[in-house]
Amino acid sequence: MLDLLTGQSAKPKTLRPHQARAIEAIRQSLGKGNRRVVCQGPTGFGKTLTAAKVIEGALAKGNRVIFTAPAVSLIDQTVSAFENEGIRDIGVMQANHPRTDALARVQVASVQTLARREIPEASLIIVDECHLRAKVIEELMDSREDVFFIGLSATPWAKGMGRRWQDLVIPCTIGELIEAGYLSQFTAYAPDVPDMTGVKVSKGDYAEGDAAEVMQGNALMASVVDTWLGKGQNRPTLLFGVNRAHAKALSEEFERAGVATAYVDAFTDTVERSIIERRFRSGEVKVACSVRTLTTGVDWPVSCIIDAAPTKSEMLHVQKIGRGLRVNPGTEDLLILDHAGNSLRNGLVTDIEHHTLDKTAPGERQERKPSEKLPRECANCAALHTGLTCPFCGHERKPVAGVETVDGELVELTPKRAKSEKATREEKQSVYSMALWMADQRGYKPGWAANKYREKFGVWPRGLSDERRPADQGFLNWEKSRRIAWAKSKQKGAS
Ligand SMILES: [Zn+2]
Repeated sequence: MLDLLTGQSAKPKTLRPHQARAIEAIRQSLGKGNRRVVCQGPTGFGKTLTAAKVIEGALAKGNRVIFTAPAVSLIDQTVSAFENEGIRDIGVMQANHPRTDALARVQVASVQTLARREIPEASLIIVDECHLRAKVIEELMDSREDVFFIGLSATPWAKGMGRRWQDLVIPCTIGELIEAGYLSQFTAYAPDVPDMTGVKVSKGDYAEGDAAEVMQGNALMASVVDTWLGKGQNRPTLLFGVNRAHAKALSEEFERAGVATAYVDAFTDTVERSIIERRFRSGEVKVACSVRTLTTGVDWPVSCIIDAAPTKSEMLHVQKIGRGLRVNPGTEDLLILDHAGNSLRNGLVTDIEHHTLDKTAPGERQERKPSEKLPRECANCAALHTGLTCPFCGHERKPVAGVETVDGELVELTPKRAKSEKATREEKQSVYSMALWMADQRGYKPGWAANKYREKFGVWPRGLSDERRPADQGFLNWEKSRRIAWAKSKQKGAS
């Protein structure tokens, strides 16, 4: 076995316990004869430091190392991070980069550059964000059996990863890092559950165009801003829209409400990005809007995440929330306003666990067991939680039919269905038409009807006709009961 990780490198005092554990776990895995090992470390794990220690160990044994980053924009920060750890012998593989040095024993490269180059000699290749499964990396893994590969990722759950990578080590979980104070506590709310029935699914996730259409419904757009104004406490906020047009539209919605925003994505150049970052850090910009694909590279002090980009991908979900889990002075906890239903669909980020790599063959359907612990809203404070007792307000959830507890956790026996799915389309249309009719009768705006509809079905109306229909007795009774409930809640609040 190539001894990568011992030698003069060990400076345990600079490693946090989970980082030391990671290095030990990788060492043990290599000791068992594995040559392709993935280390799962959440955001804030300190993977650059961990990688630096691994590199030091390899250099000390006379090995050459390549470190690959998923984007050119990440090269410079990686190099300076390694230099801060005392690694000097670094060359960058990128056209016209001032740090080009083919003789340096550590080469830092983006996967894009690597794809176009002769790969230099190396005993070890460290692959950052290995869940992205870059083609050039996989080809290298196939052709260079002599080289050791160490993959780093917060979410190494991509389909088929286990067909090339041999072992997964998990030195710590998000929950453990929160517990130890290295990551933020968080509270998640799901103020909207978008109706995704009928939305096209492509490669396992919602098709962008369809998802954007659902999320651009007027009522949903307004709800994002209203919720933030009500719950957001003016926190520095990162917003995810489905795509650029959707994120821009949301940003305009915020601007109309007097909230300063900025737009940033993977294509925002470094100069503009640093200007936006400065304005964000100073509080001049409150809500930074982006798209669901922005999951790396923005490490600003965020204490609220608005998620308006529905996904079925646990990886994307965890990566997005990860943007807000770092502990920043003054903003020790994270508020998640999930307008996309992602936490309900995929689970809270502390509950998503996989202990092995996926071995699905290309073309085969990935068997993915959904998280056993899906959270639900607390009836009292609306925070999402699993289990019977709300950790935020202490409210006790009553076990209901079709649900039982396993190990103290509430587990639904039947798949969760949105309220809206139980009603037929005809029923939904009928309620919406009656609500529109009533809005006309009373001189309310059509938005009132959309709100009534959402009260009833838990989702905003979508794809329905706006024909009017006189309200029947059932609707009148229901609408009246809502008004009484509302009046009572007001009285309670006033007394
Ligand atoms: Zn509660």
